[in-house]
Order: sequence, then C-alpha cells, then structure tokens
Amino acid sequence: MIDNFGRKINYLRVSVTDLCNLRCSYCMPEKGIEKKEHKDIMNLEEIENIIKTAVKLGINKVRITGGEPLVRKGLVPMINNISSLDEMKELTLTTNGTLLKDYADSLKKAGLNRVNISLDTLDREKYKKITRCGNLDDVLEGIRAAKEAKLLPIKINVVLIGGFNDDEIAEFVNLTVKDEIEVRFIELMPLGEASTWPKESFISNEEVLNKVPRLISMPFKGHGTVARMYKLPDSKGKVGLISPVSSHFCNYCNRIRVTPDGKLKSCLHSSQEIDLKGANPRELERLLIEGMRGKPSRHNMGTMHSTETHRNMNEIGG
Ligand code: SAM
Ligand code: SF4
Repeated sequence: MIDNFGRKINYLRVSVTDLCNLRCSYCMPEKGIEKKEHKDIMNLEEIENIIKTAVKLGINKVRITGGEPLVRKGLVPMINNISSLDEMKELTLTTNGTLLKDYADSLKKAGLNRVNISLDTLDREKYKKITRCGNLDDVLEGIRAAKEAKLLPIKINVVLIGGFNDDEIAEFVNLTVKDEIEVRFIELMPLGEASTWPKESFISNEEVLNKVPRLISMPFKGHGTVARMYKLPDSKGKVGLISPVSSHFCNYCNRIRVTPDGKLKSCLHSSQEIDLKGANPRELERLLIEGMRGKPSRHNMGTMHSTETHRNMNEIGG
C-alpha cells in the first residue's frame, strides 16, 4: 500500500505483550507496572487476524516485539500460523535474548527467519545495572542458541548511552570481525522513562565513527532502510547506525506498529492511535487502510525531548 506521501508501507511491527522479565532503566520503571486485565490486551487470535489482514494489504515484513515477546505464552504456534502466508517475505523477532536458549529451535521450526537481540553492554555488572535484574550469561547463551538454530543473520541492538556504554563502542564493533553478525547502534530516544534523562545520556551515532574511524561506509540501500551500514576492512560482519534523533528517516519510513492493547500507531512518535481491538474483519481492513494511508509525513523529534507519545517503549514495541 502506498501512503499519502508516496511511501510504500510494507512493514508491520507487532508488540505481543507489554510485560518483560527485565527492567531496562531507559525503557520501564523499576516498580509499579500493573498487569493489564485480560480484556484489555489482545489475545493471540486477534493478533494473528491483524497480521493476516495487514498482509493482504501489502505488508510483507513482520517483526514480533514487546515488552519481551518470549514471555507471551502460545507465541510459537502463532508464528507457525503466520510464517506460511504466501506474501510473507520476512518474519523476525526482537528479544532481549534471555529466554532464547529455550525457544530458538522451536522458533526456527515454526518459520521465524531471524532475531534481533538487544544487548547494551558486554560487562556483567553494567548489564545487571542497566537491566536492573538481568544476567549477561543468559543473553550470551541465547545468542549461541540463535546461531545454532540458524536464525541468521543475527543482529545485536545496542542503545548508545552517553556515560554508560560509549566506552564499549570499539569492543562491540570488534564482535563483527570474525562473526557474520550485524551490530546496530541505536540512538537513545527521549521516550517514556528516558524522556527525563540528562542530556549527556543522548549521544549521536557520530560518536561510533569518531571512536572507530576505520569503519568503511557501505552503499545505501534506499527505501525502508533505516540503518547506515559500515564495516571494518576484512570483517565478516557489519555495523549499522540507526539515528532516529540526529537524522530522522521519515522519508524512507515504511512501517506501522500495533500495540499489545490493539492500537495501530502509524508513527512511533505520534500520539495518534487507531483502536483495532474488537473490530470485525471488514472494519479491521478499513482501519488498517486508514492508518497506513494516513501515516504522518514525519515526526517532530529532531529537537530533543519533543516526542508526542506518552507510552513507554515496552508499551509500543521498539
Ligand atoms: N524486550 C525486547 C528487547 O529488549 O529487545 C523487545 C522490546 S524493546 C522495547 C525493543 C528495542 O527498543 C530494544 O532494542 C530496546 O533497547 C529499544 N529501546 C527501548 N527504549 C528505547 C529508547 N528510549 N530509545 C531507543 N531504543 C529504545
Ligand atoms: Fe524489557 Fe526490552 Fe524494555 Fe529492556 S528494552 S525493559 S528487555 S522491553
């Protein structure tokens, strides 16, 4: 489907839960997360119907996210049901990786193509600190399991945080030397919990190029590409820079999102939402068309701390 600004909308991100087994300090508050009532979150059948309808309307890339998607029971059978849709070109999942060792194999068998694993530090103590409860070894085991299950290529998402992990940039980049992985540095966005963080925490991805000047720029792939790609000379893997703050990619944005409570968000940073929950098949199609066509031309987050959305990232799906 082509939107009102000529962009081809073919990518859907679905957050299947706002719950998580970690509490990353930029994403969720430490305490006081109330579990939503059953009636307020979509059941897996509703999620599956939304995905199937969206696929009929031209979506051919779907990412399952959260909260932590792997805490949602019944996810693997749902992935099995949607992976076989003829039009589906790419079915992926974003996860913190801590539960992957138990699920990587069955996800692959269910038809998932690959995973993005979030990992903001390679230091055990710092990992525990940023996630408030996580164990780095669980993620490292998860990465190994994903590799063995051939959920490839593995992409590692690193949210760059000034004063926290900018001293680990070179170490992260070096992971790409011998392994065919993609390390993606993502600028911290002033959303939810992070919206009150000091400005020193928000650093531009240019810092990656300053710290590792040997990185070589790779050709830009155009529409739908949000990462600028680089690599080290002779490395097997790649480095991606995703810069939603310092250089927004709205002109190339091809994505829409659905939240766990069934709201369609055409733009991550907009407060506009379309309620899909409870819609019958005809209404669902109409509402999806409305959201896809009416996607805003751009967000207004160019200047720091001006996102419109009031949700935390775990309630939207990154
Ligand atoms: N729990 C899964 C995970 O951590 O990968 C999936 C959901 S999480 C919300 C998706 C991604 O959003 C993660 O890579 C996370 O680091 C990122 N994220 C959360 N809050 C963010 C923020 N304020 N700015 C940039 N990225 C953020
Ligand atoms: Fe959970 Fe992912 Fe948010 Fe961390 S970033 S608290 S793992 S949803």
